[in-house]
Amino acid sequence: MGRAFAYVILGGGVAAGYAALEFAPRRAGASPGELCIISDEAVAPYERPALSKGYLLPQGAARLPAFHTCAGANDEVLTEQWYKDHGIELVLATRVISADVRRKTLLTDSGETIGYKTLIVATGARASELEEFGVRGSDAANVCYLRSLEDADKMVGVMKPCHGGNAVVIGGGYIGMECAAALVANEIKVTMVFPGKHCMGRLFTPKIAEFYEKYYAAKGVVFVKGTAVKSLEVSDGKVAAAILRDGRRLPADMDPTGTKPYDPRVDCTTHHTQNRDNFATRSQEHARRSRARRHAALPVSPAPNPPLHTGLSLSYHWSCKPLAAETCGRQSLLSASEKSTLLSSAFSTINLRSPLPTSPQVVHGSVHQRKENRT
Ligand SMILES: Cc1cc2nc3c(=O)[nH]c(=O)nc-3n(C[C@H](O)[C@H](O)[C@H](O)COP(=O)(O)OP(=O)(O)OC[C@H]3O[C@@H](n4cnc5c(N)ncnc54)[C@H](O)[C@@H]3O)c2cc1C
Repeated sequence: MGRAFAYVILGGGVAAGYAALEFAPRRAGASPGELCIISDEAVAPYERPALSKGYLLPQGAARLPAFHTCAGANDEVLTEQWYKDHGIELVLATRVISADVRRKTLLTDSGETIGYKTLIVATGARASELEEFGVRGSDAANVCYLRSLEDADKMVGVMKPCHGGNAVVIGGGYIGMECAAALVANEIKVTMVFPGKHCMGRLFTPKIAEFYEKYYAAKGVVFVKGTAVKSLEVSDGKVAAAILRDGRRLPADMDPTGTKPYDPRVDCTTHHTQNRDNFATRSQEHARRSRARRHAALPVSPAPNPPLHTGLSLSYHWSCKPLAAETCGRQSLLSASEKSTLLSSAFSTINLRSPLPTSPQVVHGSVHQRKENRT
C-alpha cells in the first residue's frame, strides 16, 4: 500500500476547501501530515461560482489564485502554499477510481492505493452530457459546458473569435442566465432555448421571471421557450446550427450548455445518490436541521453572487455555503476523537431519517444537485 492518512477528503471542490480550513492546525484540527485532499482537478480547491461570473468577463476577468476557497467567505484564501504551510497533502490531477470502504483504501488512476481512517466524500456533481438527452455533438469544438476551470477556459477561448456572432444557450436556469449575460458582455448575440414556460422555472415565480426576461431582452437576448434542442448541425467539427423539436433552426457560432443538468459524482463510492427534490429549498432545510442535530454534512454552495455582467444580480442559496464542509470537518475530528461513527449525509433524506450507520467511517460532504430539465 502507498501513503496513508488519518483523514482523506475525496474531491477538491468547494466543500473540500471549506473542510480543509476546519482541519487547519490553528483551529485545533488535524496535525500536519494527517490530512490529504485528492482531486482530479489540476489546481487547489477554488470557488466554482466564479466560473460563470468574473471569469467570463472580456476585461478584468477573475483568475486564480484570487478565487481559491475560501475567498467567498472573506476568510483566508487557500492557495497551494497555504496547504503546504498547514501540512495538508494535496494530491491533484489524480482521480480516485474505486474505494474499498472495508479496507479503508482508495485506488487512484495512477495506481496508488491511499489509506485513510476517516474519509470525507466531497465529489460534488458533474455536468450531464448532451448525448444523455439524445443530442449528439458534445465533442464539437464550439460546444461548451461549464463546470470546471477547464470548461471555463474553453468557453473563454471559444468566445474570443465569436465577437458579433451567435450563441445558443441550452437551458434557462441559473448558469444559463449567467452564461447569457457573459456572452452579451462579450458582444455575442444570444438565443436561450428551454422547455419551460419561463426562465429559472424552479426558482422564480412567473412575475419575477418576466422581470428578468424583459431585462435580458432589452440587452438583446432572445428567449425561445416551450421547446428543446433536438439535434445539432455539425460541420467541420463545429456546430453550425441547433435544430429545435418544433423544427426551427437557430444558427450558432457557439453553443454553451451552461444550464445542463448535474449528476452527483459518487461513481467511485458506495453511497446512495438520491436527490431529486428542489436543490435550494432542500439545502436550506438541510442546513437548518443540521445545525440542530450537529451531525450532518451539508451541501455547500459557496459564494454570494457578484452582480451579473448585465448589471442585475441573482441570488440564491449561498447562505448555507460553508456549513456543510465546516460541519463535516468538525464532525470528522469529533468523531475520530470519540472513536464513533460519522454520519454520511448530503441531501439524502434516507440519511437524515435512518439511524447512523455503524461503519464505515465516512462523511459524505458533497453536493447532490438534482437533474434538471430532463425532457
Ligand atoms: C458555473 C457554476 C456557477 C455556480 N454558481 C453558484 C453561485 O453563484 N452560488 C452558489 O451557491 N452555487 C453556485 N454553483 C454551485 C456550486 O459551485 C456547487 O454547489 C459547489 O461547487 C459544490 O461544491 P462541492 O465541493 O460539493 O463539489 P464540486 O465543487 O463539484 O467539487 C467536487 C470535486 O471533486 C472532484 N472529484 C469528483 N470525483 C472525483 C474522483 N473520483 N477523484 C478525484 N476527484 C474527484 C471534482 O473534480 C471536483 O474538484 C455554481 C456551479 C457552477 C458549475
